[in-house]
Amino acid sequence: MEVPETIVCVDCGQPARLLSFPPEEGWEVGDIVAYRCSGCNDRWDLVVAGEDENQATDSVSAEARAILEQRVRDQREA
Ligand SMILES: [Zn+2]
Repeated sequence: MEVPETIVCVDCGQPARLLSFPPEEGWEVGDIVAYRCSGCNDRWDLVVAGEDENQATDSVSAEARAILEQRVRDQREA
């Protein structure tokens, strides 16, 4: 399946570009894709999930949000 070339960075709202090269047979559920934000330069390592491309796109977006939420929680507890 395909994963998005760019996602929106949940930290700063700038586009984050795909760093990983796709495997020869395409992305599969459970593969890790890395994105680098063009704004804040953060790296996002996301797991591909879902049965089709829409679900794969949703899953990387949802996971990026989850990472940010976890980070906010960690900062509150620190
Ligand atoms: Zn960013």
